[in-house]
Amino acid sequence: VILDGVQIDVEKLLPKLGVIAAYHSGDEVIADCPWQAHRKGGRRKFYVNLRTGLWICQACKDKKGSIYKLIMLLKDISFPEAAEYLKDNGSEVDFESFGDYITETLYNEVKPLRSRSDKKVVRESKKILLASRRFSKKGFWYSQRGYNEETIRKWNLRILPSSRWRNVIPVSVDGKEKYVIRRAQDPSTKPKYLYQRGFPKRELLFGLDSADSDMLILCEGPLDAISLWQHLSKLKMLDRYSPVAIFGSKISTEQIDLVERNADKVILFFDNDTDGESAVIDCMRKIKNVPTYVVDYGSFNVKDPGDLNTKQVRSMLTHITSVIEQKVMASINGS
Ligand SMILES: [Zn+2]
Repeated sequence: VILDGVQIDVEKLLPKLGVIAAYHSGDEVIADCPWQAHRKGGRRKFYVNLRTGLWICQACKDKKGSIYKLIMLLKDISFPEAAEYLKDNGSEVDFESFGDYITETLYNEVKPLRSRSDKKVVRESKKILLASRRFSKKGFWYSQRGYNEETIRKWNLRILPSSRWRNVIPVSVDGKEKYVIRRAQDPSTKPKYLYQRGFPKRELLFGLDSADSDMLILCEGPLDAISLWQHLSKLKMLDRYSPVAIFGSKISTEQIDLVERNADKVILFFDNDTDGESAVIDCMRKIKNVPTYVVDYGSFNVKDPGDLNTKQVRSMLTHITSVIEQKVMASINGS
């Protein structure tokens, strides 16, 4: 089933949630009620439509809804956590299209999503920015992320007082803060980054708007780019390197185009994990018209650029290898 751009294999998912099919009927699976308390009266009373993901328990009369609601109720988790659960369990989840729905208030249903006009998205960003506050010294950006005042000011990092999604990162295009990204304070909250519905993620590179050099450093998340920016600022190297983020580990064709139009040289600085490695391979293949280099984490036992210190960043940038070298090494090792 594809729900609003989200592909979910309901049949594969059900056993993981403890819903064991007794039998199939057309598009439907009939199972015992997965809630312990209702199990006695709920024998073969639980219906799930494999095509739509909609479900109903005829024993517990109040219980019915979407596949998200089922996960939320059974696992006692929030909507974003349910979306993340789906992702971890082999389903494609397009967080971008959720945007608005990933809020604290959402609990019931996922409504059909329609794309929104850019005007609407920009208007929403303005509202969010107005509702947000500048940082305080005790705040998240300063105490938890280790950002200094210069960094916080430069990126206009903000905090939303009353939301679970408290941290606000404006995204500038042509010198204007057009969009906002919200980010969970609690590192265990998934997804980490929350994009507005209609946010043109594929057409943007975070940080490109203020890039001062033609050497772009590509990283995954906006906070990685900001961390690298702070290190480069300390090293007084911002005239040489400009960190930009691709909003994840999959670069879009529009982003490739932006890179090729704006950079003389590219350094790939993705996360130190398997997603980061596949992002490197992907970029090695797709960036054709700009010399491309790769950093090596070597013995630094960190998971992303945000965990590195200034000295480590400098060392990695002085030991980059070109993609051509990488390809030669791979062919030697591979044969
Ligand atoms: Zn039930």
